[in-house]
Amino acid sequence: MAMKRLTRQRKAVLDVVQKARNHPDAAWIYQEVRKVVPSISLGTVYRTLDALVEEGKIIQLARAGEATRYDANPTPHHHLICERCGEIVDLELELPNLLDKAREAFPDLRFHDVQIEFHGLCARCSQALDS
Ligand SMILES: [Zn+2]
Ligand SMILES: [Zn+2]
Repeated sequence: MAMKRLTRQRKAVLDVVQKARNHPDAAWIYQEVRKVVPSISLGTVYRTLDALVEEGKIIQLARAGEATRYDANPTPHHHLICERCGEIVDLELELPNLLDKAREAFPDLRFHDVQIEFHGLCARCSQALDS
């Protein structure tokens, strides 16, 4: 039954990431998944997240000095990082194909992915500053 258990854990982890709209980190995902699968370990959550990233089901947002966060938004998009509260806001914004441009301009380098990060304030913090 090991296989069945694995599938259930995997589904629970994917469900949590898909329902979260807050780009959660592994610690938050672990807390939520435990409500559904109380016996799951943090190590299993990490391994499951790695597998889901590899399969392209979720995206990993790695930022220097911070815990990796996860995103299940399947639409290509960019992010605004709020400098005040740290919230990550999805921006569905058409941009030119920077990956192709970079490959052309720097043929000696290898590019796997591009993630654009905008810095500013989320709507809530922006309002708080105005009032
Ligand atoms: Zn904010
Ligand atoms: Zn996102």
